[in-house]
Amino acid sequence: MTNEQSIRQDGPSAALPVDLKHENRKKVLSAFRYGEECTVADISNQTGISRLTVMRAIQFFVSRGILRSVGLGESSNMGGKKPERFAFADDRLTMCIAMWPLSTRLSLRTITGQPVAEMDFASDLRRPLRDVFADMETNINRFLRQQEIGESKLYGVMLSTAGTVDTDSGILRFSVHSPEWGDEIPIRDYLQKIVGERPVVLVENAGKTAGRAVLHQDEHCRTGRVLTIFSAWGLSSCMIEDGRILSGPLSLVGEIGHMSIDSRDEELCGCGRHGCLERLVSRRRLIRMLEKEPAPADSPLYNIGEKLSFPLLFEAAQNGDRRARELTDHLARYYGDALHNVAVVYNPDQVIFQGLVGHACAYFDQQLKARMKNFRYFPGGEAFQIRYDKTDLLSLNATGGWYMLNEHYFHDPLLYQDV
Ligand SMILES: [Zn+2]
Repeated sequence: MTNEQSIRQDGPSAALPVDLKHENRKKVLSAFRYGEECTVADISNQTGISRLTVMRAIQFFVSRGILRSVGLGESSNMGGKKPERFAFADDRLTMCIAMWPLSTRLSLRTITGQPVAEMDFASDLRRPLRDVFADMETNINRFLRQQEIGESKLYGVMLSTAGTVDTDSGILRFSVHSPEWGDEIPIRDYLQKIVGERPVVLVENAGKTAGRAVLHQDEHCRTGRVLTIFSAWGLSSCMIEDGRILSGPLSLVGEIGHMSIDSRDEELCGCGRHGCLERLVSRRRLIRMLEKEPAPADSPLYNIGEKLSFPLLFEAAQNGDRRARELTDHLARYYGDALHNVAVVYNPDQVIFQGLVGHACAYFDQQLKARMKNFRYFPGGEAFQIRYDKTDLLSLNATGGWYMLNEHYFHDPLLYQDV
């Protein structure tokens, strides 16, 4: 009696054999998800599924052109027959588009994540929506022509941009970087028109796209509660619970840049409010603070003006420069208060800074923790693990965007069904 027959006899509450078959196929294919080469025995050992069932599933995917044989591997120490190795064979590509306020990057990767090509071009999200997408169309077509990629070669396209995005409906709800566009903009439809009907098209907020990169980079981020903080031209976060991205009915979850930290602050935020975290910790704010109270002549921040950057500030603070430390204290104070507020509503296990604050120095970390320490609910004074990732944000974004498309591919139920 086969496994499937025995389950059928367990009665109506047991999994249907056809579901079990699909579930097994899914587990088998997931072994190839990131470009691995595997033998039947490898997968059987990993999944606990019998070799016969693994072999049948592999034959199913080979017959559909999703897996292919890549020849014989090494035999085991005991000698004997060399096992056949298999690899993912669907050679279509994914494209991640970072449509950010001042520039756009197109990143092509295979479905399993190997980088293929990239292109950057200038963009300005303050221009009218139609102009931005007309430019986008020209550049995408040029890029795909250069790479000799037709519509059928593209499995999916993912667009990451500023503002609140509803991934399910494909709508950009609102962005402070392009308020003239209005709200409820069907950006997925705009993109689908450019790339044609065939490719899968997904859209997401930039912070949530870059944040997803941790799901690929670090298996410890796939369980528990993780908060990534995206700091660049804007400030937002991605809240991940057991690998799932939280969003909410207005896609507002994670918009920590608009957390009210000091409502008496004079600067008006693009969102319509005062005292938003994004405004308090902006580079512009630090430049203004330096204009008001300049650094002395022996400071690396002396007369720095527009050349001020976060890596430079953190380096100077770490080296003990007084004015750099004051500005770093300012950042640590506001980030500390924001993380305190995050802790009491989200209670994360881990917080990971990406982008500008990913370059923070030990001095910032120490001041940040000191700011949060007096809250007596935190055991031992520490609420969560804090990490800093210096990886370029556009690379994280390309990884996160590809990951969304990879997940979409491997979770598609049609992939596992008999034709
Ligand atoms: Zn705001």
